[in-house]
This record gives sequence, C-alpha cells and structure tokens, in this order.
Amino acid sequence: MLFAIILAAAAMTGIVALRYVLTSGGFALATARVRPGLYDGLNPQIITEIKWSLLSAAIYGVPAGVVAWGWQERGWTLIYTDLSAYPIWYLPLSLLLYLFAHDTWFYWTHRWMHRPKWFRIAHAVHHASRPPTAWAAMSFHPIEAVTGAIVIPLLVFLIPIHVGILGLVLAIMTIMGVTNHMGWEMFPRWIVHSRLGNWLITASHHQRHHDEYRCNYGLYFRLWDRLCNTDKGLGQPASRP
Ligand SMILES: [Zn+2]
Ligand SMILES: [Zn+2]
Repeated sequence: MLFAIILAAAAMTGIVALRYVLTSGGFALATARVRPGLYDGLNPQIITEIKWSLLSAAIYGVPAGVVAWGWQERGWTLIYTDLSAYPIWYLPLSLLLYLFAHDTWFYWTHRWMHRPKWFRIAHAVHHASRPPTAWAAMSFHPIEAVTGAIVIPLLVFLIPIHVGILGLVLAIMTIMGVTNHMGWEMFPRWIVHSRLGNWLITASHHQRHHDEYRCNYGLYFRLWDRLCNTDKGLGQPASRP
C-alpha cells in the first residue's frame, strides 16, 4: 500500500512538472512571437524560475497524488463522476465555489507572506523575478509552495465537485498562473477594461503587484483587494500589441 501511495505521489509530481513545462513553455513561445525581445537578457533568471518551479511541482504532486490514490482506492473525497449525482446547476456553482475559496485562501496567505519576516524567509523567491516571465508561474519557495499545494486537496474533502469541473479548475489555475506572469496582456481590451474586467485578475493587474509589491494581492478576483483597499488598479502592460 505504501508503495502504491509513493508511486501515486511520484506520478502526480511528473504530471504537474510536465503540465508546468508545457504551459509555461507554450506561453514563452507565444511571447517570443507576440512580443519579440521581451525576455532578452533574462536567461539566468528564467533558469532560476524553472528550478524553483520544478521543486514546487514535487511539493504540489505529493498531496495531490496521495488524495488521488485515496479517491480511487479508498473512496475518499467528494469528487463525483456521475453527472446526475447533483443538479446540473451545481456544476457552474461548484466551479465558482472552488475559484472563490482558492482566491480567498491565496489573498490572505499572500498578504501574510508580505509581512517583512515572511517575505524575507519565503516570498522573496517569487519576487526575485523582475520582471516575471511565463516561467515564473510556480517559482515559489517551498513554504509558499506548501500553502498553494494543500488548497485543492483539502477542498475536495469539503465541497463536492464533478471530476470534469475539477479538471477545469486545475486548467484555469495553471493557465492564469502562467499568463498573469508572462509580461503582456492576452485578453482583449474590451474584456480587461469592461465591468467584468473590473472584477477579474489578468496580467495587467498582477504585473502591478510585481512592480509595487504592497497592492493587488488576489489570484482570480479583485473582490478581496477591493474590500480591503489594496486594489491599485491595472498597471502595464494594459493592452494587446
Ligand atoms: Zn506573482
Ligand atoms: Zn507577492
């Protein structure tokens, strides 16, 4: 049994690492085409970002692998596969619940990591990327990686979710993590500068966090930043090329 659990953790680490390399690599390639030269001179920084990110992949992979094993072998978790187990309207609701719960956790742990002591110990690694690139998506000190790695494995014990919606949550998490750091805005201006855009976090918003540090702490939504007066609005880059 122990061997199976270790195998699941190792397999999940491989999946998370591969997902990182493909997603960050894909958007780095897109950056080279859309904004040629944007990462010029950043190779040493990118190598560091990749090293921290691969270490984070292991930290993310272990709890995810153990919970995936428990789900398959022991019936743990509230993940369901039968679409009729819950009403159909619960599918979008569960998506929002997961994104909101993750965003709330991220906002408050992120603010905590901007306290001087914890910034020095843990969060400085992430902010060493100046400016961040598509490879910085998982560039975290292990302490920060642990805070990120436990969220979804805990939520699947608390909030029922269809396995397909869980995949969507993970896809949104991965793509937004990469694109918010890649240094240019992929969403069109009519979304970023719309009423909806006022509540959503994209590259223009998170870039400002990396430029100015003590603002724009959120992950997906601007709700907590707005409620707590930490939202400084959009920074550069604010438009598509
Ligand atoms: Zn960041
Ligand atoms: Zn930060």
